Amino acid sequence: MNIVDLSRPGLSQVSALRLPDYRRAGLARLDCNELCLPPSDDELATYREAMTRVPLHRYPDVSGEPLRRALARRWNVEPTEILLGNGSVELIALLMLALGGERRAVVYPDPSFPQYEVIARTHGLEPIAVPLAPDFALDEARYADALDDQRPVLSLIASPNNPTANRFDPDALSRLAARAPGAIVIDEAYADFSGQSLLSRRGGAPALLILRTLSKIGLAGLRIGALVGPPDTIAWLDRARLPWNINALSMAVACAALEHPERIEARVAEVVRLRTALMADLVALGELCVYPSDANFVLVRSGRPARELEVGLLERGVVIKNVSRPGALEGCLRITVGTAEENGRLVEGIRGILRGG
Ligand SMILES: *Cc1c(COP(=O)(O)O)cnc(C)c1O
Repeated sequence: MNIVDLSRPGLSQVSALRLPDYRRAGLARLDCNELCLPPSDDELATYREAMTRVPLHRYPDVSGEPLRRALARRWNVEPTEILLGNGSVELIALLMLALGGERRAVVYPDPSFPQYEVIARTHGLEPIAVPLAPDFALDEARYADALDDQRPVLSLIASPNNPTANRFDPDALSRLAARAPGAIVIDEAYADFSGQSLLSRRGGAPALLILRTLSKIGLAGLRIGALVGPPDTIAWLDRARLPWNINALSMAVACAALEHPERIEARVAEVVRLRTALMADLVALGELCVYPSDANFVLVRSGRPARELEVGLLERGVVIKNVSRPGALEGCLRITVGTAEENGRLVEGIRGILRGG
């Protein structure tokens, strides 16, 4: 038995996700696009209370009904329009499982979320990346051509996009959704920071599905994602969902958190304020190209090798994501918005490195 030879060919084209162990105390973690503001002590007490009521010897509620109701209220949709995932990545995998098959294509912009390609390969689909415009806007004509030529079963567009931080024109997304021969997913992982969502346009095109997550608004540890789409589509896709994919503790805590949307919104608003201040400070350094952001992170480009900034910042206790590679992202770093203190350390760190200190 040789597990490599037995596997789908795509498995040899990917690597397992490995992140450095940055758990040492005091590091400013600006590399994962988590929300920098933790829950308050009061909220933590509420969550603990909710967890004590979970019967741990029982399977979770297989329908996820209470959580779907809470999310439906948040997004002003019906619970029957929601499919729950163990993070939104599980829902991307579920879509590829349901729609997949060798030589079927998945189309997405480039640069974008690296997991689109990885999940396509591990599920035996053919990944096709369509370049964004040089300013990272969606090249609608080029994307429409790819939909026409490749006839993908699935298209994935993150808006706001990761790692470029910009959102795309909602009218262009609607036009592409009307044109797509297969399903089209608008991945709104960062929509809470952008003031824009295609949720209100759902139903406009039957192929349009919207992907949301609680990961970027302060609950990354719970692994809660949701796919929003027409009830008949959601009911069909539910056949491909593994039973009890969301654990009972995560559901209990998420429901408790969603009872106080104002607390979530206050933190999102605070991060948007911190983002504005951080971007101004980065621009003031004079040497970086700072791209516009509709997300909880910013993309910057430096003339210096990105590795030099990455290493220099790590020496100063700040972790960022080096996304530099030849081509559109040459010299680019992705920086999650941190607390005022973390952002201060970041900016001072970059200043020191640029001065050669
Ligand atoms: C972070 C991120 C996700 C989130 O994935 P989860 O599995 O919900 O944590 C999805 N899409 C994009 C573009 C992201 O950057």
